[in-house]
Amino acid sequence: MKVSQLLNPTLREVPAEAEVISHQLMLRAGYIRKAAAGIYTYLPLAWRVIRKIEQIIREEMNAKGGQEVMLPIMQPAELWKETGRWDVYGPEMIRLKDRHDREFCLGPTHEEIITDLVRAEVRSYKQLPLLLYQIQNKYRDERRPRFGLMRGREFIMKDLYSFDRDPESSRESYRKMYAAYERVFTRCGLNYRAVEADAGAIGGTGGTHEFMVLAESGEAAVVFCPNCNYAANVEKAECLPRNPLVNNSFLEKDGEVHTPGVKTIDQLVDFLGVEKTSLIKTMVYKGDDKFFLVLVRGDREINEIKVNNNLGPFIKLRMADPEEVYSLLKCEPGFVGPVGIKDGILIAADLEVAEMKNAVCGANKKDYHLVNIACGEDFVPTTVLDLRMVKPGEPCPKCKEKLKEARGIEVGQVFNLGKKYSEALKATYLDEKGKEQVTYMGCYGIGVSRTMAAAIEQNYDENGIIWPMAIAPYHCIVVPISLKDQEVAATAEHLYNELKDLGVETVYDDRDERPGVKFKDADLVGYPLRVTVGQKALANDQVELYNRRTKSMELIEVDKVCAQIKKIVQAELS
Ligand code: ATP
Ligand code: MG
Repeated sequence: MKVSQLLNPTLREVPAEAEVISHQLMLRAGYIRKAAAGIYTYLPLAWRVIRKIEQIIREEMNAKGGQEVMLPIMQPAELWKETGRWDVYGPEMIRLKDRHDREFCLGPTHEEIITDLVRAEVRSYKQLPLLLYQIQNKYRDERRPRFGLMRGREFIMKDLYSFDRDPESSRESYRKMYAAYERVFTRCGLNYRAVEADAGAIGGTGGTHEFMVLAESGEAAVVFCPNCNYAANVEKAECLPRNPLVNNSFLEKDGEVHTPGVKTIDQLVDFLGVEKTSLIKTMVYKGDDKFFLVLVRGDREINEIKVNNNLGPFIKLRMADPEEVYSLLKCEPGFVGPVGIKDGILIAADLEVAEMKNAVCGANKKDYHLVNIACGEDFVPTTVLDLRMVKPGEPCPKCKEKLKEARGIEVGQVFNLGKKYSEALKATYLDEKGKEQVTYMGCYGIGVSRTMAAAIEQNYDENGIIWPMAIAPYHCIVVPISLKDQEVAATAEHLYNELKDLGVETVYDDRDERPGVKFKDADLVGYPLRVTVGQKALANDQVELYNRRTKSMELIEVDKVCAQIKKIVQAELS
C-alpha cells in the first residue's frame, strides 16, 4: 500500500474529547472517527487490526471445535419475553418497532436467539457438545459511552455458546474456552490475567472468569496473589475474617455517649479518639418490602454485589434513602446501629463484625452512639456473611500471602450458565434411553473492538502506538528520505516490492513530505518496523532498520534487509 493512497488522516493535536490514551491515539493516528456518541467508523488501518484480532479468535475457536455462524442483529421481543429479560434488561437495550408495530431489539447479546436455534435443531445427545460462535456488532445503550472503542454503544464482539448434555461435559467446554482465551490474548501480545468474577445480570450458577488486560486506565480493579494463582475482580474477591480487635476497653463506660452532630466515621474517630477498626458501620438496605441492616467494620467498604448476591438473589437491594430510614427507625442514617432493632428487620453482619467486642455503633437516637458493644451479646445478627470489599495487603484466601491490586480492562468473559436459558426456552435433547433432558449452556464473549483499544493502552509511548506484531495493521513501512534522488526512490520502491513478495505486510511512504513528518506519522501509526532509505547509507549499499518498540537502529546491506525483516516478523508471529 502506498501512503499517498491510504486513507489515514493523522492529526497533530490531541482531540479534546478523548480522555484515555487509546482513544486519543486512535483519533490522532487516523484509525477511527466518531459518528455519534459511542458509535465509530473504522478507517482502513483500524479495520485491518480488527480483522487480525478476529482471525486469531477464529482460529482458536475453530481449534476447539467451534463452528462459526451469523445470527440476526435485529431480534424479536417474543424470545426475550420467554426468558423474562425483555423487562429486566432496562434502558441499555435498544428497542424498535417494525411497520406492523411488532417489537424488536438490536441484540445486546445472543443467548435467546441461539437457544431458539438449538431447541429447534438439536434433538439427540449425539449432536452434543455443540459450540457455536459468531463475530458481529452488539448494541448496548450504555449510560456512559466513553473512552472511544473501550465502551461503545455499537461494538464488535465474538460470542460463543456451548451446549452440553451434563454439568461435567459443560465444565469441559468451559475449560476448553478458558484455554482458548489464554491463547487468543497471548497471541495478541497482551499482558493479561484471568480473574474470578461476579456473574452479574447474565446469571448462571457455574462460575465465571473475566480476562483482564492490565492497564492503569482499566475501569475494573482486581486483586491477585503474587505467590499462588489466585486472582479476582474486587467485586468478587473473597475476604477472610481477620483477628478480632479488642483493644478498645479504654472506653470506660458502657452504654450511650452523647455525640452531637457526629454522623460520619471520620467525625466519630476524632470525637471519641478511637480507631476506625473499633467502629461498626451500619447501612440500611431495602429490597421489595424488606429492610436489612448491613454491618461492616468502620474502616471497610460494603461490597454491594456481595450484599445483593448473598441477601437478595431474587430481589434487587438498594440503599434506603434517609426518609425511609427515618420512618423505619425514627433516626437519621448517621446514628443507626444494630442494638435493640425491632423484629422483622434483618441484621446481616460481615464476618469481621461477628468477632467485634468493645465496639462503637449508632444508638438509633439522634446525637448518640453506644460504646463497649459486643456482637452476639448486645445484638445478634440474623446472618453472618462476607459482605465487604477486599483491600490490597489482605491475605490471599488460598495461601494467605498478601494480595496485590491492579487495574484491568475486561476484554473477555467466560460463563458457565447451567440451565438458566435452556430451561426457560426448553432447549432439550433425547438421551440414550430416549428420555428428554435439558441442555447445559455456557457463553463466552470477547470484546474485539475493546481488545484493540486495550492493546494500545498497553503499548504506546510519547510518539504514538507500538503495535504487537500479530495485530499491527502492517508489519513494516519503507520511508525514502527524498523522492528527488533517483537512486533512493528506486531502492525504496524495490524494497517495498520485495517485502511484499516475501509476504511481509508493507506500506511505502511515497509522499513528497519532509523526513521528519514521515517519521512522526510512522511512529504515531505504530508500524513495528521501519526501513529508511537515504543517500548517505546508500552510498555504502546500506539502509537503516528501525524497531519501533526497542527504538534500536541498525544499518543493514540493501540486499539483506528484506530477509532480515521477514525473519523478525516470523519470529514475532510464532
Ligand atoms: P462491562 O462490565 O465492561 O460493561 P460486560 O460484562 O457487560 O462488560 P459482557 O456481556 O461480558 O460485557 O460482554 C463480553 C465482552 O464484550 C466484554 O468482556 C467486553 O470486552 C466487551 N464489551 C462489553 N460491553 C462493551 C462496550 N460497551 N463496548 C465495547 N466492548 C464491550
Ligand atoms: Mg463481562
